[in-house]
Amino acid sequence: MKIAKLSDILGIINKIAPPGLAESWDNSGLQLGDPTAAVSRIMVALDATPAVVESALASSCHLLVTHHPLIFKPQKSISTATPQGRLIHAAIKGGLAIISIHTSYDIASGGLNDLLARRLGVGGCVPLRPSPSPELVKLVAFVPKEHLERVRTALFPHAENLGAYRDCSFAATGEGTFTPLDDATPFIGTVGSLERVPERRLELLVCRSGLGRAVKALVAAHPYEEPAFDVYPLLNEGEKLGLGRVGRLERPVSLADFAARVGERLPAPGLRYVGDPAAMVEKVALCSGSGASLLRDAVRSGADCLLTGDVKYHDARDAEDLGIALIDAGHFSSEHIMVADVGERLQSMLTESGYPDCEVLPCRVEYDPFRYCQAQ
Ligand SMILES: [Zn+2]
Repeated sequence: MKIAKLSDILGIINKIAPPGLAESWDNSGLQLGDPTAAVSRIMVALDATPAVVESALASSCHLLVTHHPLIFKPQKSISTATPQGRLIHAAIKGGLAIISIHTSYDIASGGLNDLLARRLGVGGCVPLRPSPSPELVKLVAFVPKEHLERVRTALFPHAENLGAYRDCSFAATGEGTFTPLDDATPFIGTVGSLERVPERRLELLVCRSGLGRAVKALVAAHPYEEPAFDVYPLLNEGEKLGLGRVGRLERPVSLADFAARVGERLPAPGLRYVGDPAAMVEKVALCSGSGASLLRDAVRSGADCLLTGDVKYHDARDAEDLGIALIDAGHFSSEHIMVADVGERLQSMLTESGYPDCEVLPCRVEYDPFRYCQAQ
């Protein structure tokens, strides 16, 4: 039975929420933990609250995956005199690592905003505020044929998806030559004589921001003392990604009916909305969490309504002035759906990666901190 290390799990989580996608102000990724530590139980939650950390420790978890970052601002001290300090101490004492996926997962194809759109029947989505396309490079490595699969498998977590396809690579047959010099310790061949080796030319697309990690994985998996590899800049445009989504409902419905649908399907017991209840909604912009700042992007996209959380009074007045409907489903309700999604995807990717005994549990103790009068 293969035992997963925290670094193995991080590699898998990076496929769900690629770190290169995170907004510059964000702090997603590994928050706390020893990358070499063994992990056989994982909990997924929206926030690393004291109750969540306590639940993860009581369930003998070694890793907590959260949406919101544990550490958002630089810390000057980690003291048990503060709530966050106590939480960090408790996690370290209990051997609990924490990884947060935040804006990487918000923006990722198949991430939180795509999940929200699917849940609400909004199809044909494109990003509401597109990010600049990621810079892509082609990584080409020359590998002895017996080691092709080992090197290819090590590089898959770093390869870019092609649309809905992951693990994309190409390998061609060829012959490598080299003469080991006096100070070499060759894996194949002898010092001073020309060696000819059947090799494979392995090619993968890699995001420029992840190239360093990919080369490190290549060098670790390659049998040669000096693996040969090339990096080519590409003119290909990467996948169009960005904050929020805009798409269409299968058929137009009234704003009141769409709001009721959102309230039911998330569920969102504290939902409120701005606009004429009888106005028809077909094109929908959405952004999980706090997305009222995307109101003008929603207007530019031609959407009939923007659905998000954390809407303020003046956002509501702006929406009225701009003639767009605005639905506030609540920060918690628009994002808590990530717990089941990330849990299920992580579990199936762990099984595919040869760690079927590594168990993923959804956190059961989270709740919306806001109480809504009509729901009581
Ligand atoms: Zn959030």
